[in-house]
Amino acid sequence: MEVFCDLHLHSCLSPCGDDEMTPWNLVGMACVNGLSLIALTDHNTTRNVPEAIEAGKEYGVAVLPGMEITSKEEAHILGYFPTLEDALAAGDEVYDCLPAIENDPSLFGNQLIKTTGDQDGGILSKLLINATSLSVDEVEALVKRHNGITVPAHINRGHNGMIGALGLMPFLPQFPIVEVSAGLDCPAYATKGRFQLHSSDAHRLEDVQGPVFSLQLEEATPEAAFRFLKSIYG
Ligand SMILES: [Zn+2]
Ligand SMILES: [Zn+2]
Repeated sequence: MEVFCDLHLHSCLSPCGDDEMTPWNLVGMACVNGLSLIALTDHNTTRNVPEAIEAGKEYGVAVLPGMEITSKEEAHILGYFPTLEDALAAGDEVYDCLPAIENDPSLFGNQLIKTTGDQDGGILSKLLINATSLSVDEVEALVKRHNGITVPAHINRGHNGMIGALGLMPFLPQFPIVEVSAGLDCPAYATKGRFQLHSSDAHRLEDVQGPVFSLQLEEATPEAAFRFLKSIYG
């Protein structure tokens, strides 16, 4: 079946994400926008994924556990996981690889954890948008160790896209799936033979995408979505 999705979204836990991007608001907006599947991919943490999954059960939106990891080369790499447990373990390990630099909310924004129906669940203190100490290869290995798959984010956008960060997109068989930003040029070699994801990277509710990108899945569940992506990854 055709499943409309947005697989790159930030919540209020990402400092650059709006405080209004609570898990319940975010999933509610995805539902209104006609999406059956989303992934929550905060910067270097997965601590708001549990609440997004809870909201998803209520709204009938499948939530694939995810995270956007910043490598030491400043490349943004999405990790997708088969289970919440895998995602939480990977998220905590990535968080530990961030430098011990505190977030200044007045400069960078709040880092809000939400729990039990969007109630305040505390904050994360280390600045989440810093680069981790992990190289691109180490990010891949970490995600793999937690049974996940890696997808370079917005490869054709800015210095945090892999092309900008590394100067060149690594060649296949590395990264058989890539996320490509719509409306920006992307060199043909970087996507040749690769499966492309198109997501919003929304940091504000109004930027969550509508039914513009879909996957062909057996069913609209996070398990089916992960199985599909994993089958491409090999
Ligand atoms: Zn990014
Ligand atoms: Zn992002």
